[in-house]
Amino acid sequence: MKRLTVIIPCFNEEEALPIYYQEMSKVMAEMQELETELLFVDDGSTDRTLRVMKDLHILDARCKYLSFSRNFGKEAAIYAGLRNATGDYVAVMDVDLQDPPHMLPQMYKILEQEGYDSVATKRSTRTGEPRIRSFLSESFYKFINKISKTEIVNGARDYRLIKRNMVDAVLNMSEYNRFSKGIFEWVGFRTKWLEFENVERSTGTTKWSLKKLFFYSMEGITGFSVAPLSLASIMGVVFCLLSFIIIGFIVLRTLIWGDPVSGWPSLVCIVFFVGGIQLLCTGIVGQYLSKTYLETKHRPIYILKESSEGEREK
Ligand code: UDP
Ligand code: MG
Repeated sequence: MKRLTVIIPCFNEEEALPIYYQEMSKVMAEMQELETELLFVDDGSTDRTLRVMKDLHILDARCKYLSFSRNFGKEAAIYAGLRNATGDYVAVMDVDLQDPPHMLPQMYKILEQEGYDSVATKRSTRTGEPRIRSFLSESFYKFINKISKTEIVNGARDYRLIKRNMVDAVLNMSEYNRFSKGIFEWVGFRTKWLEFENVERSTGTTKWSLKKLFFYSMEGITGFSVAPLSLASIMGVVFCLLSFIIIGFIVLRTLIWGDPVSGWPSLVCIVFFVGGIQLLCTGIVGQYLSKTYLETKHRPIYILKESSEGEREK
């Protein structure tokens, strides 16, 4: 019998967990042909999330859990899940039912019958999301797809079902700065995209603040494009050319009209402008440098505090 592991990252989700388990039990009953395990990853929750996971584990041996020593972020939780998954098929799913569990049998069918290695999902609408958030997300996707060779699909969820060969490929990318939406594209393989309408959270609130999302988007940009680095050189060339033209203009103007002192305001503007551009470029270089710095330290992506299994050695 083939095995399926469902990875469920949870951060302060004590209320959502029982609801999720209920929904998922129905789906598991539907997929009798698979031996399913639910691998909950407690991402350093401060509420009773771990307690609820332990209760579920006692209630149903198919429920397993990993617990981090602190909050390492959803990306780390996904990675830990992939490392500890034993299934021939692995799914990643949110606990808040925004990734509809009832799609799973259909996704499995596609993998089995149509020869894909992965079935991914994206939202067709963003209803229920604040306007400003949708706008910023849309802009981010437009920008990153302009500058990155790896396609980052607009509206893509982390909800996917993948085969073991792809899991192993993703595990080979043990980078510290993780951006799953890029990593799953980067490894290649054949992916089918399913669309579904945005679903509101079952309970609780989103764990992503605008600030967290901003830094996450920086992760995506620095992780999958070096174009911003070339920006500095391009701007350097443009500004050199511009300065030659301006110098020529000033020399000519002085020769023809003679106008030695006026021009203080324009001078100040230029000083500020060029200063700003220089700081921007240094900042871009700094972003990449800081990522490189973190990468060279080879710190673990997550630290396990306890689990129902003991960590599987890779
Ligand atoms: N999550 C996590 N660690 C975090 C933040 C979120 O494991 O630091 C989990 C969270 O419990 C949920 C999933 O990631 O299962 C998606 O989070 P959320 O629903 O808050 O994000 P949204 O759906 O609003 O993008
Ligand atoms: Mg959610």
